[in-house]
Amino acid sequence: MVKDLSGLSVQYIKGVGPRRAALLKRLGISTVRDALYYLPYRYEDRRDIRKISELGTLPSLKYGSLLPLGGCAVPLQTALGRVIAKGIIKLRGNKKLFELTVSDGSGVIKAKWFNQPFMQKRFELGSEVVLSGTVRPAYRGKGLEMENPEYEIVSDEGALPTAEKHVMIHTGRIAPVYRATEGLSSRQLRGIIHSVLEAHMGEVNDPVPGEILRRCGLPGLKESIMGCHFPEAEADIESLAAWQGDCQRRLSFDELFMLELGLAAIKNSRSREKGIAFGAGGDLILRLRQSLPFSLTRGQEKAVEDILGDMKAPCPMNRLLQGDVGSGKTVCALMAMLFAVESGYQAALMAPTEILAGQHYINMRKIILELGLKVCLLTGSIKERPLDEIAEGKVDIVIGTHALIEEGIRFGRLGLAVIDEQHRFGVRQRSVLRKKAHNPDILIMTATPIPRTLAMTLYGDLDCSVIDSLPPGRTPVAATVLSPAEKSRVYSIISEEVKSGGQVYVVYPVIEESEKTSLKSAILGAEAMKKIFPALRVSLIHGRLRYEEREAIMMDFKRGDIDILVSTTVIEVGVDVPNASLMVIVHAERFGLSQLHQLRGRVGRGMRRSRCILLAYAPLGEEAQRRLDVMSRTSDGFEVAEEDLSIRGQGELMGVKQSGMPDLRVADILRDAGLLEAARKEAFNLFDKDPRLEGFPELRSCLENFWKGKVELFKTA
Ligand code: ADP
Ligand code: MG
Repeated sequence: MVKDLSGLSVQYIKGVGPRRAALLKRLGISTVRDALYYLPYRYEDRRDIRKISELGTLPSLKYGSLLPLGGCAVPLQTALGRVIAKGIIKLRGNKKLFELTVSDGSGVIKAKWFNQPFMQKRFELGSEVVLSGTVRPAYRGKGLEMENPEYEIVSDEGALPTAEKHVMIHTGRIAPVYRATEGLSSRQLRGIIHSVLEAHMGEVNDPVPGEILRRCGLPGLKESIMGCHFPEAEADIESLAAWQGDCQRRLSFDELFMLELGLAAIKNSRSREKGIAFGAGGDLILRLRQSLPFSLTRGQEKAVEDILGDMKAPCPMNRLLQGDVGSGKTVCALMAMLFAVESGYQAALMAPTEILAGQHYINMRKIILELGLKVCLLTGSIKERPLDEIAEGKVDIVIGTHALIEEGIRFGRLGLAVIDEQHRFGVRQRSVLRKKAHNPDILIMTATPIPRTLAMTLYGDLDCSVIDSLPPGRTPVAATVLSPAEKSRVYSIISEEVKSGGQVYVVYPVIEESEKTSLKSAILGAEAMKKIFPALRVSLIHGRLRYEEREAIMMDFKRGDIDILVSTTVIEVGVDVPNASLMVIVHAERFGLSQLHQLRGRVGRGMRRSRCILLAYAPLGEEAQRRLDVMSRTSDGFEVAEEDLSIRGQGELMGVKQSGMPDLRVADILRDAGLLEAARKEAFNLFDKDPRLEGFPELRSCLENFWKGKVELFKTA
């Protein structure tokens, strides 16, 4: 935001020499701009200057005993007076105590510093000082004392009457507290940052149009930077602590605004790229509709309409299709792929795992072949690859894993790429895929519903369709948390389920018993199941099996030839067996929330009433408990996703590093959800009016700075 100041080294600031500059660098502060944006991590209220006679005290402590720490807040008090005495007292063990005696006429207080004899030189008799700290009755004698107080020399005895009034920065105000480093204290940082503000505040220009600030009710940039470091006397200390003061919100807004502007720029430049305007003369979609045993839900119809609309337009599609597990995204994707094929192009479907790609292939192959098209499966472990046919455009639909975008695989006329279940696929990876095949249309499907805030950030450059309802006849899958002590109950639930015609998944977190983690292994689990249910057909599937073996097992399960399928999390996503009606998750406390939700989504996909048992082993951590509570409370994917975000926090969930998004340092998309919404609206608005930000050169250069090294925002071509 403060662009010119990012070229100015802090070394030339008053009070900073080469030594301090090196220390500052450790904190990430090299330039004046860095210093302005080195924000306090908390504040201390030292506003209330009291008469010494009115100071309250805590019970006296013996020197050397521990001060109460942590949760027990030590009240800070502040007093103002003149130095009436000072001196160093020698203690046992060659230790030194510096004592300063201050009086304000109403009383006397002593300030004490251990082993800092140099303090002696800082104070002169007669100087006016402010002390801020924890007040106790004097260790010996009358009066009060503070140990290691924060101090400020307000005026020296000899100062001329015309001398400027001293600006208090450490005491007598709300004081900022900075993360310090060895050799550079928070107090010293406060001084340095204050000097930086005094010297350079005037040069700060506000790049954000005033109109936008007015609409959002936010203060100007100068005022905000100032107010974040040195809040005004009447600022609300609680808002400050929650980082919700106006000045703080302004700086959060800036980050979110830059983020959204960048996304708007990406989206905008893409909309001016040339893509394929699909226009079909075929009847594939119609024939698919006729062959489906169901009609699409309203949500599906709307999604298909959005998708086909995008595909017909001459710029490349970039659409995110969201829908809870089981909402029927696959058929929407299939329609899109058929539309591409009808229009004379190839389509590809990319899934994150082999098993999922295989599932899609199995599910779609029959329909696709019936329509007279050619389809193939392309994964890492498949040796037979019809590469020439793909390159010549003879294969209409290719289903596969990341192998699809490997080098050496060329498509003759790829028109549409569908990426399934890829919440791990960020802005940058998407652009790799796009380059792979001259601007194909891209449809991303995710089964993990994305909280609004994340959708606005991580996927903020995409158009979005949401399938918000499940196909008719589905009942929500209730989750019940049970403990190992209730195992026999679990067994009888399993046997009941199979007796009544259902099938059962039993999921374990790892595949082999390891002493370290003491997790029940799926292998042992399967053996146990066989013993407990000798009459039932029990099978085991896990990630170390060869692909063909896994596929064969899944097919058996789907056909109903297996009653109980014991597995590791390889079945996590996308597997579709409508008759499966019971999911037992062993060691449920070890799974993440969205993983639990995904797993639960494997049942309840048909007409059978389904349920999910979460077998949880004590001791449960607080987070694990929260996850299990959420699972038993709701089966709504969006609610689960919001909870997941709030449990894990934005950093982890966003996977910012791999997504190619700029870091957020000040803003927090959870805390600042409202600001994010406003920032997005304003950013996209502004971009609509002025797509190259020509009227806002300053804003534009801030924006480029913010996204530097991530994505090139304003391509010249
Ligand atoms: P997901 O969104 O999790 O990928 P799928 O596309 O795998 O869900 O669909 C889940 C199941 O619902 C599949 O068996 C599919 O055939 C079925 N299905 C999809 N749409 C409908 C519909 N409109 N009516 C009934 N069943 C449907
Ligand atoms: Mg799916």
